[in-house]
Amino acid sequence: MDELKLCPFCGRKAEKGEDRESYECVMCKDCTARVYSMDEDTDVELWNTRPIEDELHKELKATQELVVWYQDKEAEREKRIAELEAELKEVNHGFDIQRTAAINAGKRLMELEENLQMAEESQRSE
Ligand SMILES: [Zn+2]
Repeated sequence: MDELKLCPFCGRKAEKGEDRESYECVMCKDCTARVYSMDEDTDVELWNTRPIEDELHKELKATQELVVWYQDKEAEREKRIAELEAELKEVNHGFDIQRTAAINAGKRLMELEENLQMAEESQRSE
């Protein structure tokens, strides 16, 4: 015999027994929920048959799987963002080095142009 599920209405335990008129049934120990049938095992089967509950459990399971899938995708996305940020930091660092070198080269060029101008001026004045 299958184990009886909890009462679908109050969530408490159920038992096989007889009602006040001595009809065999499965009944909730706490509320008035009852299932009757002609043969002994069918009432248990009927008591335990919960199509809406089963469907909701199925949907819940599918939803939970979807949540896990999204969490995995989110974790992958976070990891990829971290990789790209590290890559960007490296590129920016390289860019800073090149920019500093370009600024220094520009300063040196200005110095050389000034020196050339001074040399040309002193040559002209001679
Ligand atoms: Zn109940």
